[in-house]
Amino acid sequence: MKNLPALLREALGSMTAPALKHTETLYSKDGTQKLLLETSDGHRLETVLIPMGDFYTQCVSTQVGCRLGCTFCLTATMGLSRHLGAHEIVDQVHIGRSVDLGDQKIRNYVFMGMGEPLDNMDHLVRACRIMIDDKGLNISGRRITVSTAGLANRIPELGHEVPVNLAISLNGSTDEQRTEIMPINRKYNMAELKKALLEFPLPKRRRITIEYVMLGGFNDSLADANRLSRYLHGLRVKVNLIPWNPFEEGDYKRPSDDGVRAFQKILVNKGIATSIRISKGLDIGAACGQLDGLPGPDTELPTAG
Ligand code: SAH
Repeated sequence: MKNLPALLREALGSMTAPALKHTETLYSKDGTQKLLLETSDGHRLETVLIPMGDFYTQCVSTQVGCRLGCTFCLTATMGLSRHLGAHEIVDQVHIGRSVDLGDQKIRNYVFMGMGEPLDNMDHLVRACRIMIDDKGLNISGRRITVSTAGLANRIPELGHEVPVNLAISLNGSTDEQRTEIMPINRKYNMAELKKALLEFPLPKRRRITIEYVMLGGFNDSLADANRLSRYLHGLRVKVNLIPWNPFEEGDYKRPSDDGVRAFQKILVNKGIATSIRISKGLDIGAACGQLDGLPGPDTELPTAG
């Protein structure tokens, strides 16, 4: 750029335009890292790096806050401040990749951070395209999972726009139950959701992940497990059971370990691959449903076992 005046060249040379500022990192005993980030207009959000054995999974946010109002989720209590732009979503991935993880790397990316990805569809899709493009971050779509609370109208569209994995936060076995904890179920009930899942363009040998947050005494009975298995009939899915993670204002109970295993057994006996997600980063407020853009946690931790 020799044609530019020297002073301008110098100014340009020292210029960087990062979308997000990485302000702090919290380290969990289990190796999870919570990265606190700030947008240029002063909003706080977070992304989480989760050790999975040989590699890490990065949990990425799509909004500052969320407007869906799920009753068991801390992010919901913030309401929605604003959507994140595609550049801010991608910058989380950049920042994650710049963290020194020793000889390990981030392998999988899950949109399970703050916000509802499909409520910010345009920026989500643009961000996924940049992540996947070989001139972008060159990440295989197989390593990217978008999790949604069930915006049924956008589910097939997502699959047509970008070749990513899909996860659904189901969390209930009847409409009545699901509506009580996830207001979005009033708009798109479980039958409509199932129809959308059947329309999702699912590549061969791939499955949709069904996330089921277990709230002790609410949706964790054996009758729930039986209803859930009937609901899932005809879908290519695997189920991820997530014992509820507490936060201060959260008014639920964690289910007992035995209860979770009995629930799992029913699904497995019906031929449904079912795993139990041991949430990581509980001690730093970095587990599922504990993200609020603040250092945290401000709550008593569940005891192990
Ligand atoms: N809004 C999207 C992305 C968030 S993913 C979605 O709902 O899928 C976050 C996952 O954590 C969801 O499956 C949600 O059901 C779950 N979750 C929310 N609060 C939780 C809590 N307190 N304990 C355990 N899981 C929780």
